[in-house]
Amino acid sequence: MTRIALAGISHETNTYCAGFTAKADFYAYRGAKMLGTTGQESDVGGAVDACQRLGCEAVPILFASTQPSGTIERAAYEDFKQEILDGLATAGPLDGCVLLLHGAGVVDGIADLEGDLAAAVRDLLGNVPITASFDLHGNLTQHMADQLNGVFVCHHYPHIDMHQRAAEAVQAVHDMVNSGRRGRCVLLRLPMLLPTTTTYEGVGEEMLERLLWHEVEGGGIDLSWCHGFPYTDVEHVGSFVIASFYEEHGETAIAHAQAFADELWQARERFRVHSLDADEAVAAAQAEQSYPVVIHETSDNCGGGTPGDGTHLLRGMLEAGLGSDACFAFLVDPATAAQAHDAGVGADIDIVLGGKTDHLHGKPLHARAYVKALHDGRVVMQHLFKGTPLNLGPMARLVIDDMDVVVASRRSQTFDQEPFLAVGIDVMKYKYVALKSSNHFRAGFQHLAGAIVTADTPGLTTHKIEVFPRQNTARRLWPLHDNAQFPEP
Ligand SMILES: [Zn+2]
Repeated sequence: MTRIALAGISHETNTYCAGFTAKADFYAYRGAKMLGTTGQESDVGGAVDACQRLGCEAVPILFASTQPSGTIERAAYEDFKQEILDGLATAGPLDGCVLLLHGAGVVDGIADLEGDLAAAVRDLLGNVPITASFDLHGNLTQHMADQLNGVFVCHHYPHIDMHQRAAEAVQAVHDMVNSGRRGRCVLLRLPMLLPTTTTYEGVGEEMLERLLWHEVEGGGIDLSWCHGFPYTDVEHVGSFVIASFYEEHGETAIAHAQAFADELWQARERFRVHSLDADEAVAAAQAEQSYPVVIHETSDNCGGGTPGDGTHLLRGMLEAGLGSDACFAFLVDPATAAQAHDAGVGADIDIVLGGKTDHLHGKPLHARAYVKALHDGRVVMQHLFKGTPLNLGPMARLVIDDMDVVVASRRSQTFDQEPFLAVGIDVMKYKYVALKSSNHFRAGFQHLAGAIVTADTPGLTTHKIEVFPRQNTARRLWPLHDNAQFPEP
């Protein structure tokens, strides 16, 4: 039976976050726990299921991941990397390996986590097929691509196909084991810093269609487009096109990758976003006639490394007097959640809500709140990453000036209705539904929203890419520099 090792360290590193990410911040799946992800629409779950479907033995090594956050401590990374190498070395004969990666991992002193890890795995395993799946928001390097026989980046944002792309990475290894052939990867880097862009509509959707057309015409194993992660200060930041192919298709596959990269570059101005601040977003929502209007605070998205306790949008909604027409789930504030749990349902409490992590995301909000409902915060995702458990920690539904405001204890963005439902909120009964997320929420809300309004308040995942200082690259990058060129000089 073909034995395929599964391993990975997956982290989206926002280098503008204060503080480092420690080993204890990660959750780690090993052995039976890794195999237990079967049926979950995640990268690990997809890889495990694909092995089973193909009649291969999935050999679980280690999968370590955590919420997007600051630069990873060196010792944390070295420990996980060594555990993976030791696990691979002692796993018995392996026919291939699939790495489950993000692409935007940055370690203290190592700007390219994935390149470093893939090179170490390649050194250890030699010429067996090694492929990898990636998040859409990686910042990739040719050094990393040189280690791999196939690169499979998730196509959609929301990332509804992580499990399918991981399955394709497994399929490719399976094919290469059986045929004896080996794929090769070529990466094209565009000097573009894209604001977070959904593939559900607009230019993101159009370019994805073009990508898939070029993939078929190119005749390779795969053609991927990594949007890139602009909230990271590394030399190789950008947007990326990656072709994976067998040598006989190399010329055509690379030509189509190049043609697609040119189309992306030509379309760059269409990725510009006109930002609305909190007051403008609330006014735009009030101008809509079709309900519920979903207002998403894109700039305080824990899924990009922010604290999740920003008060800008909530303050704007309260000042506009939206009252019982509106609900908001959620702000991350463990102290306020604990205070509500201590007081109990039915209590009136004086709270200091949010704005506790830094000064960027808004001041704390002083308010009198009624404790309407409490919950342990354990939900199961129902749209994106369907079937995957999510622990938001103790949650409380508070009523502030007649508005339902949900508070959670652990950092996460709002992916679907589950955090609302947990505390008894049916979003369809409200005119205005507010949440913190950039685009993943679309998987759970697009079908029910009368309209969607984007609030871009001051925050670490703002669309205003130009506010972030770039100390680690001197390259000319769109939209920071009007004279950026592709190919780069
Ligand atoms: Zn992503």
